[in-house]
Amino acid sequence: MNFTHDTPAQRVLFGHGRAGAHLADEVTRLGATRVMVIATHPHPEVTGTIPVALHHSDVAPHVPVDVAERARTVARDNDIDLLVCIGGGSTTGLAKAVALTSGLPIVAVPTTYAGSEATDVWGLTESGRKTTGVDRRVLPTSIVYDSALTIGLPVQLSVASGLNALAHCVDSMWGPRADPINASTAAAGIRALSAGLPAVVVDAADRAGRDEMLLGAYLSAAAFASAGSGLHHKICHVLGGAYDLPHAQTHAVILPHVLAFNAPAAPDAARMIATALGSESADDGLARLRERVDAPTALLPYGFELSMVPDAVERILPVVPESNPRPVTESDLTTILTAACTGDAPIAHPVEGRR
Ligand code: NAD
Repeated sequence: MNFTHDTPAQRVLFGHGRAGAHLADEVTRLGATRVMVIATHPHPEVTGTIPVALHHSDVAPHVPVDVAERARTVARDNDIDLLVCIGGGSTTGLAKAVALTSGLPIVAVPTTYAGSEATDVWGLTESGRKTTGVDRRVLPTSIVYDSALTIGLPVQLSVASGLNALAHCVDSMWGPRADPINASTAAAGIRALSAGLPAVVVDAADRAGRDEMLLGAYLSAAAFASAGSGLHHKICHVLGGAYDLPHAQTHAVILPHVLAFNAPAAPDAARMIATALGSESADDGLARLRERVDAPTALLPYGFELSMVPDAVERILPVVPESNPRPVTESDLTTILTAACTGDAPIAHPVEGRR
C-alpha cells in the first residue's frame, strides 16, 4: 500500500427529531448572531430557537449565477455571520455559492441523499453551462442529519437520490484518488444504503430505514469527496449539463451500465461491492437491489434520445478519467449510452485474458 489520504474536518450531528436542538448547539458553538437560513420553505421546528436574520427561499436547481448573486448580495447587506441550508443538493449548492465568495461558514441540514454537504465541490450554471470547482471554503463546518426531515421525500425521489448516493460509493472504487480508506468508507456506505432503500420503499416513514439512508448518504459523499470523480460521475456530469437531465435519476439509470463495464477490469473493487451488497457478484447484487426498489431504468422518459448519443459520446470521451480501470473507446460509450437511453439491461464487457 502506498497512498496519501486527506480527511476533511467536519462535525456530524445525527439524530431523529434532533435537528432543532443540534442546530441551536452549533449556532452557539460557532458564536453566530445573524443567521441566513436558505430553504425553499420554512422549517420552524428546526430554526425556531436560533437568531435568524434572514430567510432566503430563492433557490433553483443547479445554482444559476443570477440566483447565486442575489443570495450573495442579501447576505452581505444583512451582515450575516452564518449560513444554514435546509434542503437537497440545490439548496446546499446555493449556500456553497455564497460561502465561495464570502468565506462564511455553513451548517448544512440535508433532506435528500445527494451528499453535497460532505464535499468541498461547488457548482454554478450560466447559460446552460455548469461550472464546478473545488474549494475548502464551501465545505460545511457542520452537518445536522435528522431523518424526521426526510420522511416526506417521495418514495420515487428517495430511490433515485439513494441510488445517486450508491453511485458515489461505486465510483469511489476507481476514482482518481481511490485508496483503501475511501474504499472502506464507500463499502460501508453501500451496506447502509442497500439496507435502507428497500425499507423506505416498503414504508416511507420507516425511521430506521431513513436513518440508514442518511448515514449512507454521508459515507457515500465522504468517500466520493476523497476519491474524486470516476467514469460514472463524468458521464452524468456531461449528460446533466448538456441535456438538462434530472440529477438523481440520471445517476440511478447510468450506474449499472458503468458497473457492468468496469467491474470485469477491477476485480478487487467488484468483490468489495458484491460483499457490501451481500451478493456473489457486484452486477447481480445491484440488479437485485434495483429490482426491489423499482429503480428507473431508462433516460428516454427524461428527454435523452438515441439521436443524442453520438454528441454525448463526443463530449464524454475527452473527460474519461485516466484512473479508469480499463480504456474507454467511442464504441464502449456508445454501447453504454444506447442501453441507458432505451432501458436495455447492462451489457457485459469481458476483459481480454480474463474470464
Ligand atoms: P434538489 O435539491 O434539487 O431536490 C429535488 C427536489 O426534492 C426539489 O424539488 C426539492 O424541493 C425536493 N425535496 C428536497 N428534500 C425534500 C424532502 N425532504 N421532502 C420533500 N421534498 C424534498 O435535488 P438533489 O438531488 O438533492 O440535488 C441535486 C443537486 O445537487 C444538483 O444540482 C447536483 O449537481 C448537486 N450536487 C452537488 C454535489 C456536490 O458535491 N457539490 C453532490 C451531489 C449533488
